[in-house]
Amino acid sequence: MARTGSKNIQAKLVLLGDMGAGKTSLVLRFVKGQFYEYQESTIGAAFFTQVLSLNEATIKFDIWDTAGQERYHSLAPMYYRGAAAAVVVYDISSMDSFQRAKKWVRELQRQGNPNLIMLLVANKADLETKRQVQKEEGEQYAKDNRLLFFETSAKTAQNVNELFYEIGNISRLKK
Ligand code: GDP
Ligand code: MG
Repeated sequence: MARTGSKNIQAKLVLLGDMGAGKTSLVLRFVKGQFYEYQESTIGAAFFTQVLSLNEATIKFDIWDTAGQERYHSLAPMYYRGAAAAVVVYDISSMDSFQRAKKWVRELQRQGNPNLIMLLVANKADLETKRQVQKEEGEQYAKDNRLLFFETSAKTAQNVNELFYEIGNISRLKK
């Protein structure tokens, strides 16, 4: 239970990005602390919750993990509408996934919610030998579009908690 005087915050998050970029794996790393080499593809979208306690606040995340396939594209607005934060994920070993991430960013910019926290996440940082997208390239794009940028690995857990804690902190400060 939250103590008196502490804030209880609910924050809806949505993960968007190419199929295979690692959206589900990032969520499972955060929520369960686990990683699966043979993660099954998400159909439609999956829903997770996680509670974080930080700095006198309790933040309940409602996380919508979308499928990423083109055929589910028309459903996406249902998930990002009303969201506190949108996490756009690409895979550093796939230039295609980076291009697809940019399309998501443009769509989010067009949907016109100025309060939406937008993050760009370069996942699979452990696949350095297969890297197709340089860190600087992702960072520069994020900077130009005023997105927060994280390079993560759901596999090694690199930067995954940091990513969700940052979203939690920003949500807390905005309330
Ligand atoms: P989604 O379609 O975006 O939800 O992607 P998934 O989470 O299903 O991951 C697709 C594949 O990439 C799965 O085989 C995962 O095990 C793998 N994967 C996800 N994240 C990472 C990562 O950080 N590093 C590596 N090496 N593989 C990952
Ligand atoms: Mg998935």
